[in-house]
Amino acid sequence: MQFINSYDLVIAGGGHAGLTLALTVKSALGENCSVAVFDPNGFEPRANDLRASAIAAVVRQKFEELGLWNDLQKDAQPIHDMVITDTALEEPVRPALLSFGDKQSDQPFAHMVGNNTLSAVLKKAAIAAGIELIQAPVTGYQISNEHVEAMHGKSAPSHAKLLVAADGARSTLRELAGIAFYGWGYGQMALVATIGHERPHGGRAVEHFLPSGPFAILPLTDNRSSIVWTERDRDAKRLMEMETDSLLRELERRFGLELGKLTLLTALEAWPLKLGLAKRFISERLALIGDAAHVIHPIAGQGLNLGLKDAFSLATRIVEQARLGLDIGDATVLKAYERDRRFDTSAMAVTTDVLNRLFSNDSMPLRVIRGFGLGLVQRSPRLKQFFIGQAAGGI
Ligand SMILES: Cc1cc2nc3c(=O)[nH]c(=O)nc-3n(C[C@H](O)[C@H](O)[C@H](O)COP(=O)(O)OP(=O)(O)OC[C@H]3O[C@@H](n4cnc5c(N)ncnc54)[C@H](O)[C@@H]3O)c2cc1C
Repeated sequence: MQFINSYDLVIAGGGHAGLTLALTVKSALGENCSVAVFDPNGFEPRANDLRASAIAAVVRQKFEELGLWNDLQKDAQPIHDMVITDTALEEPVRPALLSFGDKQSDQPFAHMVGNNTLSAVLKKAAIAAGIELIQAPVTGYQISNEHVEAMHGKSAPSHAKLLVAADGARSTLRELAGIAFYGWGYGQMALVATIGHERPHGGRAVEHFLPSGPFAILPLTDNRSSIVWTERDRDAKRLMEMETDSLLRELERRFGLELGKLTLLTALEAWPLKLGLAKRFISERLALIGDAAHVIHPIAGQGLNLGLKDAFSLATRIVEQARLGLDIGDATVLKAYERDRRFDTSAMAVTTDVLNRLFSNDSMPLRVIRGFGLGLVQRSPRLKQFFIGQAAGGI
């Protein structure tokens, strides 16, 4: 007979969402909750992920409570100022459609952190907290006797009260649970690279809306910025094949003169863009979090933040239940989690989809409408505060 490993909580997927859930639960319950995380990729930084993410203020606060911020801070660049423009590239002056800064608040509304830095810090903390990290995929699961059994290939299955699918956009567990995933591809790719520049950015993020999609310049530590450059699939392919000198000229057209001479510090990396929303976030003894539950356009830099908020929300429900000595895989826990997260994620999916449609084109009527809309926001302190709140993580 095969030996069955027994845990309270098993998480499939050691990305940012999965490890954050594991750590939040473990830091509240300690020895009273055993947690295992499975991932076929071995929890190592990904060589093919150059991305940096804008970590919203509410998420940063949670990382501070988990004791992670000291380590993250070394690589974290505060965003003090955000400027949105849709001027044509040829125009010498680029007036802001909307700008907002952190002057009204005592903390920046977001920090840019390298994805691989975040992975390394989460992994180190998970090991220190006694979370079991196992290099294997979860390949199947079945419900038995008020437990769930997670299968991982030929090795012995794991027994748990609750199984969490944090296994990304192409979630195996979501599919095995028969949960439909609605959405579509945008026919756009996000090209990501790290750019060095002569002059300091002063913590300013710029989002330049161009007909092919947004071109975002996001400040990193030192004189470096991360770009998220959205192009239609065909043009993205062409740019990926371009010689460095020609590529730099294209970048200079988009950056303008403000940051001085540019250098390409990394190669371009391409990420296909899509929208996807799971019909349900839960099934019997199973919860979906992060990209397994929702994938959105990076136009507002909120996909990871949504996934981390899923992790904090599910952790709160698990901890409440465990402290009462009750079953953490019970349907009441899962329903409460789904209720907590469904509206926030659907609203953000719709918002980012509409923003992308409104901005990724050159139609004159739409230019007028968006100019009018953003002008209204710029002049109304209450509306502006609302947008700053959303950028800070939706308060
Ligand atoms: C260009 C771009 C820029 C972005 N910028 C931002 C930003 O600024 N701010 C922001 O908030 N978001 C941003 N996002 C979104 C963000 O990157 C994602 O939402 C986030 O990385 C998803 O994290 P996750 O942990 O849910 O999934 P993933 O990072 O996909 O992790 C899933 C993990 O599951 C593992 N796995 C897969 N299958 C299995 C299995 N069967 N069993 C066990 N493990 C499995 C994988 O190996 C992987 O480690 C951006 C996205 C793009 C494309």
